Amino acid sequence: MEEIRTNRTAPHLLLNIHAMPCNNFCRHCWTDGSSEHARIPFETIEAFFRRLAAIDKGLIQSVSVLFLDEPTLHPQFVDIFRLQSELGFGGMTQFFPTNGSVLAQLPDSDWDILQQCGIDWFQLIFHGLQHTHDAFTGRKGSFKNLIDTVTRIIARKLSWTAGVIVHKENIDEFPATVDMLRSLDPSKTSQVGWYLNSYQGRGRNLIRCRPDDLARLPEGYRFSEGFLPESEIYMNIMNNRQLGAQKVESGACGYLTLDIESDLDIYAGGACDSGGILGSAPHLKSQFRIGSLKTESIESLIVKATETKPEPVRRLESLTLYELAERYGDPECQDVFFTSDLLLSKWGGKFLSDFIP
Ligand code: SF4
Repeated sequence: MEEIRTNRTAPHLLLNIHAMPCNNFCRHCWTDGSSEHARIPFETIEAFFRRLAAIDKGLIQSVSVLFLDEPTLHPQFVDIFRLQSELGFGGMTQFFPTNGSVLAQLPDSDWDILQQCGIDWFQLIFHGLQHTHDAFTGRKGSFKNLIDTVTRIIARKLSWTAGVIVHKENIDEFPATVDMLRSLDPSKTSQVGWYLNSYQGRGRNLIRCRPDDLARLPEGYRFSEGFLPESEIYMNIMNNRQLGAQKVESGACGYLTLDIESDLDIYAGGACDSGGILGSAPHLKSQFRIGSLKTESIESLIVKATETKPEPVRRLESLTLYELAERYGDPECQDVFFTSDLLLSKWGGKFLSDFIP
């Protein structure tokens, strides 16, 4: 029966829950992670999740949940993940981003529960070797927490992905950081990747790498072709009629993404595990608000979000890449970006700053 009721055209729902504090203060953080963020009580989460699980499959096909900022700082995070697993939610039960501060010291019995919930893949972010990493996260001991967590993951034969965030201030240490990470895992259950900082949140203020910085990297530590200087992305769009005619697309992940704050206000305009267009223009946040779980049902909020995109999103998506590049592109700028980050976060953010409601 379940199969018959499922509407294959209904969206998959992704909830980004911004209701955890963070004990780091990373300089690249796109969510502006802070110890000030308030938590949602477990009882409220449980009632909300059970209601979500009962939603008709004609409205949404599936539910995935990501907790931002540091999920393990909720005193009942193990219960939360047990609940997610019981209800069949995806998201952090599929990959688990963490700064390791709690997992490093978590009792074995709680690790057992996480494993029983199907949590078997962890995502850990590094900024460099110990001194550099601690300096960039703003917390002494944060590097050791990650290494201790990796040790426990490996001992349990689980998988992990390490990402190194690269910018002008840590690029010289980046190859040594990758080497150190690769050496931790002789059984090769890990993957080590590297990324440039996103142009969102505190990451906007980091000094970006330029082509000559990346060209100095040894073979085996190069960035993929998707990372280009702003000037080159600009010229590609201006000189390629077909590319320039494409419309700006903000929700490329294909999920219906809703962001929830600890006061239970709900916002549309985020994207997957990044801030998306909402993260590009935090000052316009009130315009992305679609309602509150305190006064409306999640069903009616999903219908609202499906039927009407927030005005800033619609205005941005009405532009072509040519129009965006022509107005906001800097043909001289040598800062390197991932293309979608440049379009949505830097140029899109500037467009939205000019946006007058
Ligand atoms: S990047 Fe992650 S660990 Fe760092 S401040 Fe942000 S939420 Fe916290």
